[in-house]
Amino acid sequence: MRVTLAVMPWHLMTAPNGAASVLSAAIRPDHEVTTYYGSISFAELMLAEASAASEASEASGAGTAAKARLLPEAYMYVAEEGFTGGIGEWLFAGALYGHTDFPDEAAAACEAIGFAPDVAEQIFRLAPSFVSSAADEIIAGRPDVVGFTTTFSQTVPALAVARRLRERAPGTVIVFGGSNCDDTMGAALHRNFPEIDHVVRREGEAPLRSLLEALALPAAERAGRLAAIPGLCWRDESGTAHANPEGGGLPGGADFPPMDQTAYFTRLENSPVADYIQPALMMETARGCWWGERHHCTFCGLSDLILPFRSKPPDRVADELLKGVAEHQVLDVLTTDNIVDKSYFDTLFPLLEKSDLDLRIMYEIKSDLTRDQARALRAAGVIQVQPGIENLHSLPLKLMRKGVTGTGNVATLRELQEQGLTVLWNYLVGFPEETEECYREVIAQIPFLHHLQPPLGAHRIALERFNPYFDNPDMGFPERRPRSWYRGVFPHLSEPDLTDVAYLFETPDRGVGGATLQALKAAFDAWRDAYSVSSLTHRSVAGRLYLYDRRAGRKAADHILDEPLEVAAYTTLARPRSPESLARSLTAAGWPVDASWTATFIDELADLGLVYRESGRAVTLSTAHDATAVRGSAIPTPAMVGAGT
Ligand code: SF4
Repeated sequence: MRVTLAVMPWHLMTAPNGAASVLSAAIRPDHEVTTYYGSISFAELMLAEASAASEASEASGAGTAAKARLLPEAYMYVAEEGFTGGIGEWLFAGALYGHTDFPDEAAAACEAIGFAPDVAEQIFRLAPSFVSSAADEIIAGRPDVVGFTTTFSQTVPALAVARRLRERAPGTVIVFGGSNCDDTMGAALHRNFPEIDHVVRREGEAPLRSLLEALALPAAERAGRLAAIPGLCWRDESGTAHANPEGGGLPGGADFPPMDQTAYFTRLENSPVADYIQPALMMETARGCWWGERHHCTFCGLSDLILPFRSKPPDRVADELLKGVAEHQVLDVLTTDNIVDKSYFDTLFPLLEKSDLDLRIMYEIKSDLTRDQARALRAAGVIQVQPGIENLHSLPLKLMRKGVTGTGNVATLRELQEQGLTVLWNYLVGFPEETEECYREVIAQIPFLHHLQPPLGAHRIALERFNPYFDNPDMGFPERRPRSWYRGVFPHLSEPDLTDVAYLFETPDRGVGGATLQALKAAFDAWRDAYSVSSLTHRSVAGRLYLYDRRAGRKAADHILDEPLEVAAYTTLARPRSPESLARSLTAAGWPVDASWTATFIDELADLGLVYRESGRAVTLSTAHDATAVRGSAIPTPAMVGAGT
């Protein structure tokens, strides 16, 4: 069969689409596969408008400012920042339903994320012509089947193109899949949009292969086969929609197909959009989450059905990665994983270190990182991590079941700083039963952290389908309804169907807010300002420890620990300890002290801002003197636009 995999806006264009790359490899060579990057085509259309407007502006003197801003940066802004407000969906709602007026709610949603409504309206007006040409371009390849992958804000753009395809090529089978189709979401889309013939739910390789086999059968045999494909949504001859129960095994790591990324790099080769982005390879090393399958973090919107952790054999990962680098001549690498396989510290990362390439890998990791693990990441070419820090106090971390402590997270920030790794992290608030006091404790100590990498921002947790807070209303969020933008982009759906389609829900705020949240945000603003000019380092010379405090907002100071016991105590506090545990460690190491001595020692360090303390433990803050401060900009990653580790 001829199969076209369609990747619609608002796929983040900086890397191949992961789902299309995997599915393409999974169904070849039995089927002829092409991948249509509508994302790049739409960005090109925006760019052409911007160029035309800029020329017209030069000729006439003014009047086309909004169009001139339709650059790929605007596309990327919607892709990265627009998901929670449904911006990407709003911008294609007119193309789907034939509306010509840009809705006021959409303009307000754009304003809320700092995206100029006049630019958004221009994009809204471009969408119908894009949808028309996208349908024509797909049809020109005469596909038997078109598969739309939907993640984040791709549902309405995909529906709009699917509707045109159905009008112009009614015999083409249209399949939807991707994370926007998991569970009830896919079934409700299938029930309400007749242009969708089938929905593949959960990981798509096996059900898509089975579906293509079924479609090749004579009509009389087909229904029985379709009814047996786990999770598939399909219609019988009478047009009645069916949603098969989800089930069947998940593929093991050794069965993950290698990603076929050629379509993306070929598409980008002669595209003017390439001048505006820095393309990266995509690497899939694991699926699911080894932490979440035992302790699903309460805010994490990964479905239980895909949480079982599976990882690729490390030699295969290394082999595929190095082949991809050679083939596409790209050293930046984004991983699709939710969390790194801990065994890779001893297997994959040493292999990558030996490759001797200047790789620039972005990874999601868990925040309980040791110094050796941070070093192993750096040596392997990992330059940017998303460690799931989430908070710096143990109470909210416990409420979210993160399995780490506030002091442990600070130790991780320090280790990553020392290795020169860029750290992307958000501060999450809004957990039922968190207290003002735990935020006050953190805010008071943030000036001590100015030399470590600050969070991107403080965000209230979202009620997302599949997170434990959603699945268990008695955990603190009993009232919920789909976010208001779902009604705007799906105006015809019944309330139950709208609830089934939605992934994000509105719910009354819990936990801290008001002045405490404002104070936290103000402290983070100051942290971001101070970071680039702050350092707190130590150097060991002839048994003494020299500490150099150059944190912004404090008087520059040098401190010397010249007693061997003090040096040993400071060094031991590199891992978080209570006074009692520090005393035990020192005594075991041949320095017999009691907890009153260690408590006084920690108090003295705290007075100088040299330790971070909470929940009875303390941890030192200085990095080794030759640590390279991280001052680079982040690589945009698909993971940053949604829930992550
Ligand atoms: S937030 Fe991260 S660590 Fe927690 S369950 Fe989700 S993927 Fe796993």
